[in-house]
Amino acid sequence: MNQVCGFQRNAESVASHTCRVQEHRWVNARYKYLKLQAEADLVAATRPGQFYQLKCPVTEASQPFLLRPMSVYGTGPAPGEIQFLYNVTGTGTQALASLAVGDSMQIVGPLGNTFTVKPEFRRILLLVRGVGLATLAPVVREAAQAGVAIVAVMSARSPEDLMRGEFLGTAPAEVHCVYDSDGSSEVSRVESLIRGLLADGGTDAVYTCGSQRLLMLLQRVLQDFPDVLGEVAMEQHMACGMGVCLSCVRLFDVAGSKQFLRVCRDGPVFAIRDVVGEVQYG
Ligand SMILES: Cc1cc2nc3c(=O)[nH]c(=O)nc-3n(C[C@H](O)[C@H](O)[C@H](O)COP(=O)(O)OP(=O)(O)OC[C@H]3O[C@@H](n4cnc5c(N)ncnc54)[C@H](O)[C@@H]3O)c2cc1C
Repeated sequence: MNQVCGFQRNAESVASHTCRVQEHRWVNARYKYLKLQAEADLVAATRPGQFYQLKCPVTEASQPFLLRPMSVYGTGPAPGEIQFLYNVTGTGTQALASLAVGDSMQIVGPLGNTFTVKPEFRRILLLVRGVGLATLAPVVREAAQAGVAIVAVMSARSPEDLMRGEFLGTAPAEVHCVYDSDGSSEVSRVESLIRGLLADGGTDAVYTCGSQRLLMLLQRVLQDFPDVLGEVAMEQHMACGMGVCLSCVRLFDVAGSKQFLRVCRDGPVFAIRDVVGEVQYG
């Protein structure tokens, strides 16, 4: 099966866009949902897995300098609407959290490549943890629209952190939830679960985002399922987001050739099999 991730080299058309904040609310104690009104053409061109660089406002408490990368959580339902789901962690996202409905803000994008979701797939499996669900939610919607069966393994600290509704919406899915709070998210237990779910040979692709531990687990498991496509969206610290500054390079092994690739421009979606886990420098 082709292991090349969905591809959209569109930096030539990337620009800064002024948007209006249409909706902005807390989803739980740590995550906020942000809906912006942008140009309809821009939003229509945005694909699952792509991201935007968000210009966070300068406030009294926070003076974020760099733009912050955020995956597109969703588009629509009205033309030009673009949605983000983000964890309020540090300087940039705290400043972002202060935006009020009606404010304007700048976003740059869409950036990066896309997941491969083929309408002929019979079933896909998504392994998601934390804010990785924001990145993978568009895959759920695309698969559901194409009639592809969805199996989701959702991992979280506790049931309160899960955000099942935010991830799956109304999409029909077989869902397995695992938690740190009861030990069910332990790597060996998740690995057994995933192996069991793949065992019947009916899964065409596996996707993940949000946890290096789960990524490495999948890489190990996929060695025993060579026909299953595996893709991951990497979340690497980055500055420009357009492939110029090289601050987000990571080492990959593409068909036996070791290469440093830019997560922002060559990714953020990569074949799980190509990721090099532990790198010893010097
Ligand atoms: C392609 C891409 C898509 C992303 N999509 C989302 C998303 O949909 N929702 C979401 O909540 N977050 C997402 N992130 C992570 C998000 O960009 C960071 O959480 C954010 O930049 C933190 O900014 P800050 O100033 O609030 O925090 P900082 O003060 O800069 O950092 C706070 C914490 O976030 C971590 N962090 C900072 N930058 C990154 C980064 N680029 N990647 C991973 N961890 C980082 C730091 O290690 C620290 O633990 C994405 C990152 C990338 C690269």
